[in-house]
Amino acid sequence: MSKHTHAFQAEVKQILHLVTHALYSNKEIFLRELVSNASDACDKLRFEALDNAALYEDQPNLEVRVFFDPDAKTLTIRDNGVGMSAEEAAANLGTIAKSGTREFMAKLEGDQKKDAQLIGQFGVGFYSGFIVADRITVETRRAGLPASEGVRWSSEGTGEYELETIEKAGRGTDIILHLRDEDAAEFLSTWRLKSTIGKYSDHISLPILMEKEEWDSEKNEQVRKGEWETVNKAAALWTRSKSDITDAEYRDFYQQISYDAEAPLAYTHNRVEGRSEYTQLLFVPKKAPMDLWNRDKRGGVKLYVKRVFIMDDAEALMPAYLRFVKGVIDSADLPLNVSRELLQESRDVKAIREGSTKRVLGMLESLADSDSADDKAKYADFWKEFGAVLKEGLGEDFQNKERLAKLLRFASTHADSGVSFADYVSRMKEGQEAIYYVTADTMAAAKSSPQLEIFKKKGIEVLLLTDRVDEWMLSHLHEFEGQSLQNVAKGAVDLGQLQDEAEKKAAEEAAEAFKPTLDKLKDALKDRAKDVRVTTRLVDSPACLVADEHDMSGHLARLLKQAGQ
Ligand code: ADP
Ligand code: MG
Repeated sequence: MSKHTHAFQAEVKQILHLVTHALYSNKEIFLRELVSNASDACDKLRFEALDNAALYEDQPNLEVRVFFDPDAKTLTIRDNGVGMSAEEAAANLGTIAKSGTREFMAKLEGDQKKDAQLIGQFGVGFYSGFIVADRITVETRRAGLPASEGVRWSSEGTGEYELETIEKAGRGTDIILHLRDEDAAEFLSTWRLKSTIGKYSDHISLPILMEKEEWDSEKNEQVRKGEWETVNKAAALWTRSKSDITDAEYRDFYQQISYDAEAPLAYTHNRVEGRSEYTQLLFVPKKAPMDLWNRDKRGGVKLYVKRVFIMDDAEALMPAYLRFVKGVIDSADLPLNVSRELLQESRDVKAIREGSTKRVLGMLESLADSDSADDKAKYADFWKEFGAVLKEGLGEDFQNKERLAKLLRFASTHADSGVSFADYVSRMKEGQEAIYYVTADTMAAAKSSPQLEIFKKKGIEVLLLTDRVDEWMLSHLHEFEGQSLQNVAKGAVDLGQLQDEAEKKAAEEAAEAFKPTLDKLKDALKDRAKDVRVTTRLVDSPACLVADEHDMSGHLARLLKQAGQ
């Protein structure tokens, strides 16, 4: 193939413009992105080579090399990973296949720290090279293709790119950045590159090599003598011993896998032995992602088998209601060629999912039950962000229902937030036989619900439930530690021993006295109301609607109607 010029897809042009302008003050992230691509390419090769060892050719040791030429002002990131064919280069470096590009662009809005995280999250990392380079040349050869089928891709990052066939002996990819003058002055320095790699890429499990530098006293400058050294730790973080890992290292690792600008709220790191052997390193983020409500969204847990990366977003490893958890699971038992379909059925995966679920719940419990005010505040933050998702677990995870019920927090007539069932029970009145709650669309509606009047009068606490999932959740949860849960808007509220004899008698007398009126009302409402009763539940309001004991409550009926059911 002779040299051909191709136009970028329109979105790529926009992305290029935005990326290079929005991220200029955080430019060093280009190195993180390009090293991470090099590492992905090596992971892909290792994976493909499971079925075809010949792909390793004569280079079984996967690695990344970073080197530069001060005269030419070029910086090269070289990997001996899977490489790209001409078609792959055109598709991967000339178009943006991922959806969400528009969303990404809308979000790039000048918050540098956030934007720098977004760039990786949306899979446009390669283009970040153009922050510092006015031309990028990519020389690559797909593993398995002959040396004559190498490809050179080159672009100034404006409207178009060139592709040509080259001879390339070594498998893999060289990303050659032709740096702008001011960036050359900053980045063509072993020290600067080393410290940036240390900051972002220490946990990359491949060795990242750079040429050693020595002081030459005759020339009076640093010289490089073609000897290479590994400049990162090159050990996947989760394989290291807990006691050797600092909080800052955990945080950095979390930020790299999640693209979150914030530190995690909590994490758990364990090596599990026994019937099923695996290592888990799981994080709970501080903030919910935008797509938290998309239950089809893939999970945030990466699967490794014996340190070989297998797949991102292995949803079979976590129940849907814990879809906000990020992290890594490294199994010692699964076959390396495990597929998503196989994962769904594997007993080992089931054991991992159960074990990991318990760990996450344990991590949340230790915050919720902690004596430290700091931990309690963390749990309150967690609840605000993810509580509504956790509630889904009550209908999904029968095994952990009780643990989940203890983690629930509510608003009530007693406190605006943070009320647990245990708190409620501790405040129950003498003779109170149930945990009372009311559901509504908004807190204001819940608070002014006429059904609450009698409870207010008697000083009985009522939980105020306003999350969309609450009714559904409570259809799966009928009691808490032997106390039944009762919707105050359903059936005849039996206040049991809380109602005194005089009140009961007054109610019966009223029912008698109002019988003619009730009959008239029943007749007038016969198609619209099942029954009309005298009630003791109102104090100030003249009338209220209630659902029959076994019917859907008004609130759920409204929700289903909205959902078109
Ligand atoms: P992402 O890494 O999220 O897919 P990037 O913009 O960083 O997005 O990279 C785009 C694509 O280009 C990658 O998915 C990969 O297919 C290809 N690519 C980039 N760098 C390399 C490399 N060093 N080796 C092989 N393929 C690469
Ligand atoms: Mg990338």
